[in-house]
Amino acid sequence: MQNPDTAPVDGSDGITALPAFPAQERFAQGAQFIGGRYRHGTSAATHTVVDPATGRDVLTYALASTDDVDAAVAAARAAFPGWAGATPGERSDALHRFAAVLADRAEDLARAESLQCGKPLKLTREFDVPGTVDNTAFFAGAARHLAGLSAGEYSGDHTSYVRREPIGVVGSIAPWNYPLQMAAWKVLPAIAAGNTIVLKPAELTPLTSLLFAEAATAAGIPDGVVNVVTGTGREAGEHLVGHPDVAMTSFTGSTAVGRRVAEVATASVKRLHLELGGKAPFVVFDDADLEAAAQGAVAGSLINTGQDCTAATRAYVQRPLYEAFVARTAALMETVRLGDPFAPGTDLGPLVSAAQRDRVAGFVDRARAYARVVTGGEIPGGEHSNGAYYRPTLVADAPQDSEIVQAEIFGPVLVVLPFDTDDDGLRLANDTPYGLAASAWTRDVYRANRATREIRAGCVWVNDHIPIISEMPHGGFGQSGFGKDMSAYSFEEYTQIKHVMFDNTAVAAKDWHRTVFGDR
Ligand code: NAD
Repeated sequence: MQNPDTAPVDGSDGITALPAFPAQERFAQGAQFIGGRYRHGTSAATHTVVDPATGRDVLTYALASTDDVDAAVAAARAAFPGWAGATPGERSDALHRFAAVLADRAEDLARAESLQCGKPLKLTREFDVPGTVDNTAFFAGAARHLAGLSAGEYSGDHTSYVRREPIGVVGSIAPWNYPLQMAAWKVLPAIAAGNTIVLKPAELTPLTSLLFAEAATAAGIPDGVVNVVTGTGREAGEHLVGHPDVAMTSFTGSTAVGRRVAEVATASVKRLHLELGGKAPFVVFDDADLEAAAQGAVAGSLINTGQDCTAATRAYVQRPLYEAFVARTAALMETVRLGDPFAPGTDLGPLVSAAQRDRVAGFVDRARAYARVVTGGEIPGGEHSNGAYYRPTLVADAPQDSEIVQAEIFGPVLVVLPFDTDDDGLRLANDTPYGLAASAWTRDVYRANRATREIRAGCVWVNDHIPIISEMPHGGFGQSGFGKDMSAYSFEEYTQIKHVMFDNTAVAAKDWHRTVFGDR
């Protein structure tokens, strides 16, 4: 279903003729969503959201101050008893309505996401938005299915059971690469389990997190259950993490900022969930389908212009296939069409900002001293010169311990290295501090099974790289963090388990008392 105000008109040039998303008009009441309504931030500072495809200003908004964070936490705290006390069925009904509202506003959400991030409209329409709607529908169902051990007489003399209870007010911090999906991943398991939440999206990309919260209210989720503060990490973010009325911090972002968030959260003894950086290996064994691997490497490394924490970043290719893989992958990368995110036919949009583009270019430029840039490695000029574009880039023959192999680049850059034995390939795959995602490419079931066992990562694909589903967990090993998003496993983060034990003997002098006093 489409919002008639923003529905595209037919014809190849019709989409660009329409306003992408009227952000100034839509956020005229402010860009903070607290207690079920928009408000202006009260920080002295403002932030301007920029369209990374054109460099044009999209929205200037007043940032959240620490007072705004306090107001959002107070709203979430006030909403908690009612929401936690609702039945699972009532919360499930609300989430089903929420999914329907999001589906109804899909075109609006896709346009806002494309505008603030530079994502091609085909990506937001076919991935970000439907994924979010599906996630919402999944948690509508999961809200009625909080699982645990069965009650029983484990001691013989008592009946024991567990209660799975919400934690309270959750403070969540999200990055700019998938703002809508990150809002969904943070908000949905938290509220499905009966918590209330204050979400702080990245200040670069606040639009869809606000629209997400607005949709929750439109679906009848009570005011204060979902709040969004749009402010800087240092001011609003740290204040939220350290807030005494926030019971849990859930953070997705870089490992460096995650460390700081962990310090602040730990000082106030908060439960912590960290989804951090990644540097996913892509291991191609010599019996792999070369064409499938090359196509998978291009899609897996360039999705979202490479700004994906699970993106394929290090391809290890067994020696007999190495040169053919490099040649085919480079040739396919050269077919990828850079362009206006709103134009039909665009495959790849800009990076999120000129600063991020320059950071990516810096990694590639430094690598020229020790590696071979097979294709790309340049900032395109001409019609793309106002945007934060960077050409799809393949870098070969870099040493394993070099910066470009070890550091998270977060751009459209794939590094490819050869390996000899299966042992070498798996060792190299595990040779970074990260462990978020990985893939193995082979037609040999024994090799595939070994790779899935031995690669240390929260997700290992076989003969594919990137797909995610609401029913399955997402989360890292090692420096990629801990805890799970999506799936019923996420309830482990957003609930606390209480053991309840009833005496069944009705005896005053219980047998175990003899260990403390008297003889029986
Ligand atoms: P970032 O770490 O710079 O910022 C993330 C968020 O933290 C932003 O909202 C920012 O404002 C906030 N922040 C910054 N300093 C803070 C502080 N001192 N206290 C509290 N909050 C603070 O990350 P980014 O550049 O927005 O996003 C890219 C990073 O996110 C990459 O490293 C990527 O791998 C990671 N990421 C991980 C996953 C995952 O599931 N593991 C998913 C998406 C992105």
